[in-house]
Amino acid sequence: MTGSPTATMGMERQSGRRRMGLCPVCRATGEHEVELTARAASGAAFDYVRCASCRSLYVPDFTPPAYERAADSIEAADLDIKFYVEQGAGLETLVTPAMIGRRRAGDRYLEIGCGFGFGLDFASRSMGWEVRGVDPGRLAKAGRQLLGLDIEHRYLSAEDDFGGGFDTIAAIEVIEHFVDPADLLAIVRKALAKGGLAYLTTPNAGCTEAGRPTVSLLSALSPGNHAFLLSKAGLEAALARAGIADYAIREQDRSLDAVIGADARLIDPAACFDDALYEAYLEARTREPSASPFLQIGFAYRLFKFLVNHNRLDEARGAFERIEQMVRRCYDLNLSDVWGLLRRLTFSGDRIRLFKTFPFCLTGIYFFAGIMTLNGSGDATRAADFFFAAMRVAMVVRKALLSAGIDDGELDDLQQVARRHVVMLLGPDSRWTLA
Ligand SMILES: [Zn+2]
Repeated sequence: MTGSPTATMGMERQSGRRRMGLCPVCRATGEHEVELTARAASGAAFDYVRCASCRSLYVPDFTPPAYERAADSIEAADLDIKFYVEQGAGLETLVTPAMIGRRRAGDRYLEIGCGFGFGLDFASRSMGWEVRGVDPGRLAKAGRQLLGLDIEHRYLSAEDDFGGGFDTIAAIEVIEHFVDPADLLAIVRKALAKGGLAYLTTPNAGCTEAGRPTVSLLSALSPGNHAFLLSKAGLEAALARAGIADYAIREQDRSLDAVIGADARLIDPAACFDDALYEAYLEARTREPSASPFLQIGFAYRLFKFLVNHNRLDEARGAFERIEQMVRRCYDLNLSDVWGLLRRLTFSGDRIRLFKTFPFCLTGIYFFAGIMTLNGSGDATRAADFFFAAMRVAMVVRKALLSAGIDDGELDDLQQVARRHVVMLLGPDSRWTLA
């Protein structure tokens, strides 16, 4: 290691610099190493300090942004929402709390920091539960209107009245926005009904450490928005400070998740996921006329991806045709004319103009179309076109996103895996016959 930082798109690794600090997660004080510096879209730089005790990564003296603030422009706000509903929202994660909550009795569902409200929508429509969301952000306003949900546009605190408590509580990628993680956990502890379950997810502080994949670190750090990235030990320390003893934490490369509640150790979140229920929700939402064409494309894309991933190729073809029609209607683009479409897709510095011209999920649409083609008809030439298009679209979109200090982990993954497929089909060792 040299003493000079290495630049990676809006982010620099630091080496050797230390500063005195108080870890907001475990409360340890001492000389902590500055590991990274990352820049927000505004240009402001944030140091990320590694706690020597719990190994969480935190921003010293963090001040949370005003989430209730208005966007810079109506166009920028609309694009935020369009990005989220078409591409950004991880629906499978967002419906997981309700899937977990099904394991227990009771039908009162609370989502803290619910954002647009996909989790609430699923719990309400698929379970018939009484749902309530609280979120001060812009996405929440849009979701309240477009999904017709009971979302309170404000901050929540432990002083709130939670009535008899909620049987299921969700907090997906929320805890890292608090100055003190124990504050959120105190709310969960107070709001959770007896016998109920809470589920939270958060980026894993380990994802930035040397030797780990550094893919899409920027989205995990989210400079200016995330006060810290928790380690497993850090989350345990924060749970202890909030007086929560019943929990089970799962550690994955990029994320941590925790089930909280009596006998939480008996719950395996992955095993709770019900494919049929998820599919039925997407199917119903895709077929239903929507107030927003972006939202409908978002649902149709997730259904298409689900069908391809489950190798249900005939149904996937039908889903692809539906997306083709929607994209033609909404964007005047012909998905089947891959090369014509790619010629129209260039980034010349005007993000807003670029992002209005195609759906954010175009990378995924093309990638899964490639898989569908390869596994279905076996037409390797056509599949290679789709994989190349996926790679190319991801490059253009990420270039534009990164110019605003934003990145998307799924786009990054899709770009890498699309490239591998192009090499597999067109490279010197290809075993495929191309037309
Ligand atoms: Zn710590």
